Amino acid sequence: MKNIVLFGPPGAGKGTQAEVLRDKYDLVHISTGDVFRFNMKNETELGILAKSYIDNGNLVPDEVTINMLKAEVEKNEKANGFIFDGFPRTESQAVALDNFLHQKGAAIDGMIALEVEEDVLVERLLKRGEISGRSDDQDESKIRNRFNEYNTKTAVLKDFFDKQDKYYGINGVGSIGDITSLICNVFEKL
Ligand code: AMP
Repeated sequence: MKNIVLFGPPGAGKGTQAEVLRDKYDLVHISTGDVFRFNMKNETELGILAKSYIDNGNLVPDEVTINMLKAEVEKNEKANGFIFDGFPRTESQAVALDNFLHQKGAAIDGMIALEVEEDVLVERLLKRGEISGRSDDQDESKIRNRFNEYNTKTAVLKDFFDKQDKYYGINGVGSIGDITSLICNVFEKL
């Protein structure tokens, strides 16, 4: 079993790369953002709760997010491995994930981070917002708030995984295929 965290700021390309890796290595891809959006669309209790946070570009509270993530993992007992995309985003989520996997005799093997400059990301997100209609991608002030959340709560996870010798940074600017190759080089050595 090989488990990775695909890491990076909003718009870095985590979702795109996760889908390629999922198919190539037969992994289960869990995107917490996708799970929240599915719940919002279906107006579930979780979706209604998460909506106000997501619409404003704020992180959803840890307890809600951690419970949701655990439930997604439990749905896939027979997985070869997981790609965690958009999770963890805070230190307490990272600790909860470590403990949860540990109980199952598993662990995170590596955090693969897509490194991209913020100005490039704002343009990418605004473009994605036009195509997808995602409301949190359409307003520059909400996008800036998501970066603020990332910089204040999520970026520290680089150190968290670095201390465990599990951080692998990759240049996230380039063609999708070139970036996939860089990720695969790391993944295959984990
Ligand atoms: P994403 O699709 O990963 O960019 O996530 C979209 C939004 O969902 C984020 O801006 C947060 O509001 C929420 N979200 C996704 N993952 C998490 C997480 N791990 N912790 C808290 N909020 C999250």
